[in-house]
This record gives sequence, C-alpha cells and structure tokens, in this order.
Amino acid sequence: MDTKILSGKDVSITTYQALQSRIKALKSQSVVPGLAVLLVGEDAGSQIYIRNKTKKFADLGLHSNTFQYSSSISQEDLLLKIRELNNDDRFHGILVQLPLPKHINKYKVLSAMDPKKDVDGFHPSNLGLLLTGKPYFIPCTPKGIMRILAHYQINLSGKNVVVVGRSNIVGRPISILTSLKQEYANATTTICHSGTLDIFDYTKRADIIILAIGSPNFLKGNHIKAGSVIIDVGINRVEDHSPKGYKIVGDGDETTLMGKASAITPVPGGVGPMTIAMLIENTIEAAERLLD
Ligand code: NDP
Repeated sequence: MDTKILSGKDVSITTYQALQSRIKALKSQSVVPGLAVLLVGEDAGSQIYIRNKTKKFADLGLHSNTFQYSSSISQEDLLLKIRELNNDDRFHGILVQLPLPKHINKYKVLSAMDPKKDVDGFHPSNLGLLLTGKPYFIPCTPKGIMRILAHYQINLSGKNVVVVGRSNIVGRPISILTSLKQEYANATTTICHSGTLDIFDYTKRADIIILAIGSPNFLKGNHIKAGSVIIDVGINRVEDHSPKGYKIVGDGDETTLMGKASAITPVPGGVGPMTIAMLIENTIEAAERLLD
C-alpha cells in the first residue's frame, strides 16, 4: 500500500498565507499582534522551541519578546511578572514555556494568566471551555492535528480513534476534540496511557492512531491494521552517526509503518510546524478580539 505523507509543513505554509490578510487588517488599525514568552531555566529543548517560535513571529512582521529567567526564580516573582504582562497592551498572548523547575507549581502559574491572553490554551478556564465544545483558545498541538486532518480531508466521523498519551497539552485535549459532535470530529475515541494493560490491542483495531508519549519508535507496523492513519506527535532524540550525533524521530517506527498505514505525519515536518502555526493563529485571534 502507498502510504501518503501528511505534511504539516505544507499545511503550515497554507495557514501562513491565509493569515497574511488578517495581519494586514490588524496593522491597518495600528495593531501588531504580540506574544510574551516566559522562559525559565536552561533546558536546551525549550531554548530551541522558543527560538523557532520567535523567529516565525519575526518573519511574519509580528512582535514577540522572550523574558528569560534563571531556574532559581521564585514562584512569587514569576507570578508577579505574569500579572504585569496581563496588563501590558503590547502583548496579546502570553506563553509560559514548559517544563518549569520543580519548585514552581505549574498549575498556579498557568492559572495566573489572563485567560484572554492564554494563547496556548492551558488555563483551566480554557480547558473547561474546550470540554463544552465551545473553546476560547484551542491548545496549539491538538488544533494543528485537527487542521492537518481537515486539510487532507480525513473525516473522523464514525471512526475509531486511539490516542496514546494523556497529557493536558496533547493527549487529553486531542481526545476531546476528536470526539466532539462537530465537522471532521465525531469519532469514537479511546485514550491509552501507562496504565493501559495492552495498548497494541487497541491500536490494532484503530482507524486513526495519535501518538503522544515521547518514546522513540514505540508503534510498529505489526501493531496496526492495514490502512490506518498515523498522527505522530512525538519528538525524540536518538543517537546516530551523523555529524550532529543524533537525529529526531517520532513515537512511530516509520520504517515498518510505511507501506502498512494509509497515511502518516512525518517527524520532523509533521505536527511540529503546525504547533507553531497555531500559536501564531491564536495570537492573531487574541489581537482581533480586542477590536471586536
Ligand atoms: P508527557 O510526558 O507530558 O505525557 C506523556 C504521556 O504519555 C503520559 O500520559 C504518559 O502516561 C504516556 N506514556 C509515556 N510513556 C508511555 C508508554 N510507554 N506507554 C503508554 N503511555 C505512555 O508528554 P507530552 O504530552 O508533553 O509530549 C508527548 C510527546 O510529544 C513528546 O515526545 C513531546 O516532545 C512531543 N510533543 C511534540 C509537540 C509537537 O509540536 N510536535 C508538542 C508537544 C509535545 P502517564 O500519564 O500514565 O504517565
């Protein structure tokens, strides 16, 4: 079977083209969508993610500012900064890069954000609205996955979707989105995690499998039925003999999935580019709402 590549990179380019006129309309009213990024600590992965995100903002002529703090910053100081940014009109969106150091309560930090600036969609109010099917901001990675599926006209209605991973960032919200009674959703969704006794028993019966666990090459060709669609969110570094000494792979084993799956998102170039595109779209949406 020919396995179709679902290129998130291509979908992100289409998304940026569609956003141009909205950016122009905002600028004509002297509004430049702006994002404040809070980066705590020296996590190498986080620094790369933030660099990629802020570069894309600059490429599109948008405003972003990264506030970087050492991992010893107190929770109180971080909360103070968030309250300050809540009232700073230059920023329509605020993003707190996760993970945070252990002494900081991530839920307190995310809850301190003005939900109207929570472009990542992690504030408890925004996660609650998502549950009702009337979201204010949809978390970027799940939103990007739904956009890829719609772009390639993969309708989930009546299908069995298996999500592997239950984080508040990816697994949980995508399980909600796929099962909403809405266009391109309406699936019967099962969510698997480390407490699931036999994950492959579920994946073998799934029409669409969404992998979000962070375990390299976890899902192999013999764990799926022929013709299923694989959405691979995982980003894992594995050592190799390249000059860099490593390569990035997903949670799916591309070598054995190709030829058996009907479609797959590659890693890199799949879900990742869409996460950034959806962050930008949410920031633009936040700026537009202020003009309504
Ligand atoms: P978390 O570590 O927060 O959550 C991982 C989830 O997977 C947990 O629910 C955990 O179960 C489950 N899990 C882990 N290992 C297994 C296993 N062997 N079997 C079954 N379940 C397992 O990760 P995130 O959701 O934040 O991220 C998941 C992956 O996606 C990572 O590789 C991350 O880098 C990537 N990612 C990619 C993005 C992109 O834009 N492409 C964006 C965000 C994340 P339990 O709850 O029981 O502990």
